[in-house]
Amino acid sequence: MSGALKSVTELKAARLVAPDAALDAVAEKYAIGIAPAVLGLIDPNDPDDPIGRQFVPTADELTTTPEERADPIGDLAHSPVEGIVHRYPDRVLLKAVHVCPVYCRFCFRREMVGPQGLGTLTAAELDSAIGYIAAHEEIWEVILTGGDPLVLSPRRLRHLMERLADIEHVKIVRFHTRVPVVEPERIDDEMVAALRASGKTTYLAVHANHPRELTAAAKIGFERMLAGGIALISQSVLLKGVNDDVETLASLMRGFVENRIKPYYLHHPDLAPGTGHFRVSVAEGQALVNALRGRISGLCQPVYVLDIPGGYGKADIGATSIVGSDGCFTVRDWQGGEHAYPPIA
Ligand code: SF4
Repeated sequence: MSGALKSVTELKAARLVAPDAALDAVAEKYAIGIAPAVLGLIDPNDPDDPIGRQFVPTADELTTTPEERADPIGDLAHSPVEGIVHRYPDRVLLKAVHVCPVYCRFCFRREMVGPQGLGTLTAAELDSAIGYIAAHEEIWEVILTGGDPLVLSPRRLRHLMERLADIEHVKIVRFHTRVPVVEPERIDDEMVAALRASGKTTYLAVHANHPRELTAAAKIGFERMLAGGIALISQSVLLKGVNDDVETLASLMRGFVENRIKPYYLHHPDLAPGTGHFRVSVAEGQALVNALRGRISGLCQPVYVLDIPGGYGKADIGATSIVGSDGCFTVRDWQGGEHAYPPIA
């Protein structure tokens, strides 16, 4: 992340924070990183700027609550070898790298990423992770996450994809990344080519949380990836003070669709340490996704998911629209109207 702000001193010089000893304590615990493209989006005169709120550290991060945990979604409980998380039968996470182009203040893996984090897999660890995938024929999809896999050079990514291309049973390779939005200049033809592999289908989940992140530069990268045969989906985190209102969420989801990015996940914020100031309640989240249903096209609807703490996987928590049993349900429409299903004759 060349040119990125990485310290409290640099944040002060950029007028993003005032002198505050508490911020030094935050910086000791959690990595700081604001890439130039993100810096250009932050209004330093607005303390509530929704972009700034995602990346500029605050003293609130020193407050942890009893329910928060270092491994909020339970990766470690499902890690058979270093760098692999095998939580569901047909897919694995491959975490090749634990650095990012930016450091999000709400990050669910904040205890693992950054310069003090788990680092990059060694050659031997990567061999063993690839060996695990090759040995498990039920693995249909490999999800590269991290950290951010697109901080790797195109040469290293190409090499990784070549190794996955050799594994017959892997059909899908999915990348989860912030890079197209926060370092769009990295999405050049060489990078796009590196993300493809012979015989495999590549999906890329673009992580963005506010419509202002879908800049002209980011759009050029989306176009490049689509033209290069990469399917695009989105992932966002529902964050207090960033996107917890219907107008912002609607604009973000429409922005994705207008750029041929299919909205995929809207994550309920995880119980990562020091992130309570970002959390909305589940009821608030459900009300928001329900309001989205009434307001914008079905194409624009994300799945509202909770990663169940402890490593039990994702649950769709948006569905407040049906209650009942024994073939007798009440279905709620987007305006709150209730209807029997099947209809009463
Ligand atoms: S890019 Fe992803 S992994 Fe990295 S800090 Fe942000 S949320 Fe965490």
